[in-house]
Amino acid sequence: MSGSIEQYDVAYIGQALPDDELSQVTIPVSALTECRGEIGDFTLSFQAEDDLKQVRASNIVINLKHQEELPVDCCTSLLEAEANLAEEEEPLIIVQDYQDLSAAALSKEGLELALEVKESNPAREVYYFYQAMRFMDNNDELYEKAREKEVIFLKHDLGDLEITDKGKVSYQREDIKLELTGELTVAPELKPAAKLDKLARIFNITRGPEGYLQVDNIYLQPTLSGKRGVYLLAGARGPNSLTYEQEEIQYTLQEVKRNLTGVEEIDEEERTVDDQKCVVCYTCYRLCPHGAIQRDEELNSMKIMPLACQACNLCISRCPMGAISRSGEDEQQPKDERQVIICENSAALAREKAETDPFADTVVTEVPCVSTVKKEEIYQRLANHKSDLLILGCISESCKHLTGHDRCEQVVNTAKEDLEKLDLDPDRVNYHRLSPRMATDLSAYLADWKGEVLQ
Ligand code: SF4
Ligand code: SF4
Repeated sequence: MSGSIEQYDVAYIGQALPDDELSQVTIPVSALTECRGEIGDFTLSFQAEDDLKQVRASNIVINLKHQEELPVDCCTSLLEAEANLAEEEEPLIIVQDYQDLSAAALSKEGLELALEVKESNPAREVYYFYQAMRFMDNNDELYEKAREKEVIFLKHDLGDLEITDKGKVSYQREDIKLELTGELTVAPELKPAAKLDKLARIFNITRGPEGYLQVDNIYLQPTLSGKRGVYLLAGARGPNSLTYEQEEIQYTLQEVKRNLTGVEEIDEEERTVDDQKCVVCYTCYRLCPHGAIQRDEELNSMKIMPLACQACNLCISRCPMGAISRSGEDEQQPKDERQVIICENSAALAREKAETDPFADTVVTEVPCVSTVKKEEIYQRLANHKSDLLILGCISESCKHLTGHDRCEQVVNTAKEDLEKLDLDPDRVNYHRLSPRMATDLSAYLADWKGEVLQ
């Protein structure tokens, strides 16, 4: 990438965090079009007026507000309720957890509001409905103070409390029955920030079941995303992010600064894609949980970014072409591995009868019937691009499973077709039928096969 692109310590998507030590750029979600690279060197493309602009950043922080949804229309959101409520004479009704339990930060907002109103207008009635009071920071202190100031706390469960569309509150629990009207303020439900689907696509990060960019994984707490160097706050991170907002901001800034002093690869062995084998099917790109794979346009192949890779090896196990390997793996594997799968009812018997072992220098697997060989196994065995596979089944008369040899032949033929479609040599897998009495034929056939393979 050109050296003329501006370089920053951190790129904020959404709202920036105040910190004088970091050089920073802020990009609105709507303007962002692409992100490539890995921790320490991301390149972000975005629309700036009529131009497509690019910047480089060592870290990315996605900091977006939650979307708020009120469970009823006829009320003010607890996050927007102002102290002017204190000037009213009618009761103040605060409802927390109307449908779902609210984040602890909303308990704090509610308690502070109740106290503020009572302190400025002690005669005003304040009702506080809640299912579970969440104690964090000084919430317990606020709660005690609010009780001393005669805030009326009423615990509710689902069904005890109903708010009508005219803002009337009905409450019935054991021997208490209340019908209330007044200034109504309700804790909003917090929803994932808008446009997270777009960000998930751009950063290749998986969204959790609730739609946030962070999958609920204790190892990823508190603000790490699945992708190294990309951090999530507030409405990008999850419903509890409000509760520990300040701590999470501090943690994120510390991590960002720590990354600037250097980032090490997680595993010494590097995963690499063989561009001669990669057919750009995007399987690995879609599967990598850490967004560590991107397309190399010049090579027309995928490439793995070593600092982003977290060494899970998922890509290696799923690449249909066996194009991904760990460093050193190639050397450990046989250079020209010849593998044979033999049926115990035919080739295995013929082998026993042969004077010298026809399978010397060959990796042999004996199976009760070749019909058990599946296409996936064939691909797995061909994953090393220097390997070839021969499957030896029975002739019809000696197949104890009647149609096992036919089924295997069909599987091999389909595998051959697949290899052909991918521009690979279909003769890397072969199928041959053998009678148990054909020890001589077996040796001759194997000699031919080995000769062809070696060419
Ligand atoms: S899964 Fe394998 S073949 Fe497909 S894009 Fe990835 S490296 Fe290439
Ligand atoms: S090993 Fe895991 S983290 Fe690394 S590129 Fe493959 S799938 Fe992604």
